[in-house]
Amino acid sequence: MSEAILEVKDLCKHFHVGKNKILKAVDHVSFSIREGETLGMVGESGCGKTTCGRTCIGLYDKTSGQVLYKGKDVHQLKGAEKIAFKKDVQMIFQDPYASLDPRMTVADIVAEGIDIHHLAKSRKEREEKIYHYLNLVGLNKEHANRFVHEFSGGQRQRIGIARALAVEPKFIVLDEPISALDVSIQAQIVNLLIKLQKEMGLTYLFVAHDLSMVKHISDRVAVMYLGNMVELTSSEDLYSNPLHPYTKALMSAIPIPDPKVEAEREKTCIHLEGEVTSPINPPEGCNFCKRCQNAMEICKSKKPELREIEPGHFVACHCFNEEK
Ligand code: SF4
Repeated sequence: MSEAILEVKDLCKHFHVGKNKILKAVDHVSFSIREGETLGMVGESGCGKTTCGRTCIGLYDKTSGQVLYKGKDVHQLKGAEKIAFKKDVQMIFQDPYASLDPRMTVADIVAEGIDIHHLAKSRKEREEKIYHYLNLVGLNKEHANRFVHEFSGGQRQRIGIARALAVEPKFIVLDEPISALDVSIQAQIVNLLIKLQKEMGLTYLFVAHDLSMVKHISDRVAVMYLGNMVELTSSEDLYSNPLHPYTKALMSAIPIPDPKVEAEREKTCIHLEGEVTSPINPPEGCNFCKRCQNAMEICKSKKPELREIEPGHFVACHCFNEEK
């Protein structure tokens, strides 16, 4: 088994949002990602998955805890180490149009990182690299001198991927990279990401709310709920044997393409009811308590810790705590 490239230890990212009001976007989250692995991170909008991804790569300061990339503290890097980290670690954003400068040609967008990190010794080498990365993502040299507005959503995301790859990264955070795209294009982009990972030995943190696509690309999946990680296990295990009540509800809501099977699924779908706990000054106890059908007395006062219930399968729920 390969070594961890990223280790996240008890990470908290809190925001002050008013007098005595603290939004706990990420609260005591721990996990690691092995080299060459894809970790999917899922949950409803506002669950803290994007904030977690951004804090992991130093785009946000942490409130407490630690993030280690190849054993070095991401939030303490300085000088040459920080420059090397910024080259090694890239991010691909949800909205490819907003993240690409409309005044720049595609060639200049892809070459931005090549120029910053001095990765081409001559104009010719720079040009060759641009064409190489455009080819890798399914575009070609004809596209190089055009502008972003001339491309479809899927093509724009391919340009964003080419820009990230051009600095020869090792680790990429993909922040909802397909959610702004048509369904027909989503699978193409996911398949492209899988192909690039195999060819280039990349490691991914894939942040998404679309559970079916996450299953397709991820080795393991982490489920987030209101700033907490509530379940973490292999992709197969999560889909065949979800344990946390929130994960079970998420899984039961995934539509199935076969109409007969879909009709059966709808009958057994778990509909979440009850008030959603506010992430601002959340109460003691389990954040899922007000919506959980299995809630017990202890759930109101004690926050469940993420524990290994089966080998490699972690759950944060008092139902799996022998001391309950
Ligand atoms: Fe439900 Fe309690 Fe488990 Fe929270 S800890 S998910 S409230 S059973």
